Amino acid sequence: MHHALCATCGTQFPASATPPEACPICLDERQYVAPGGQRWTSLDALRRTHRNAWQRLEPDLYGIGTEPRFAIGQRALLIRTPRGNVLWDCIALLDDATVDLVRALGGLAAIAISHPHYYTTMVEWAHTFDAPVLLHADDRAHVVRDDPSLRFWEGEARDLADVGVDGVTLVRAGGHFAGGTVLHWAAGAQGRGALLSGDVIQVVPDTRWVSFMRSYPNLLPLDAARVRRIAAAVAPYAFDRIYGAWWDLHVMHDAHAAVARSADRYVAAVSASRDD
Ligand SMILES: [Zn+2]
Ligand SMILES: [Zn+2]
Repeated sequence: MHHALCATCGTQFPASATPPEACPICLDERQYVAPGGQRWTSLDALRRTHRNAWQRLEPDLYGIGTEPRFAIGQRALLIRTPRGNVLWDCIALLDDATVDLVRALGGLAAIAISHPHYYTTMVEWAHTFDAPVLLHADDRAHVVRDDPSLRFWEGEARDLADVGVDGVTLVRAGGHFAGGTVLHWAAGAQGRGALLSGDVIQVVPDTRWVSFMRSYPNLLPLDAARVRRIAAAVAPYAFDRIYGAWWDLHVMHDAHAAVARSADRYVAAVSASRDD
């Protein structure tokens, strides 16, 4: 018996004698099955061939990503707060070095995940650090390895004070997934506030702008109403910076206005009939 790990998306499955027939996360139109078909690996195999790289993005904020690139190229972010740390999003590779380093930073009070493309090995992380995993209930059907450590929250926002994390609020933005969540960190960006957005709000190469998609690999856009709803969901929060899904793509200043003007640009692009 072992836990199969999808090599294309990094999702870990329940223990079984033989791998599942398919990965539902990859069969979904928001992911893909590569031309060679479904491929499986395991966390143990990944530990032999890959390692995690760290970057301090600002005081009390660390990025953790796997090298060489694995699966979607997911990156997790670790925020330190006065009472306890939160891991934002998750990556498949959890190895001894990562366990030691996370413990040295104070361990994890909670794990919060933006959407199913980052569920990966969340149950392994939860067990290792004895931390609950907070997931939006609207994406519950996408969980393939259920576990008592998973805690589903409902509604539009959830403060993490009750799980020992200070100044952090999960905000349901929807869009990419119905339960698509972003994280607001009030103390981020030297107290001006930061949004950790994954690809629910995707920072684009011109980092004064962001964008939004139903499916990135299949280039399926969102409709105007859903884009407006994402912008409205984050509008009440103060933030000057957005840390997106990738190492290099962050809105470093004026991020609150960037979301508003990017939503306006997007809505205009999908609404108007333009020939230019
Ligand atoms: Zn998959
Ligand atoms: Zn995604």
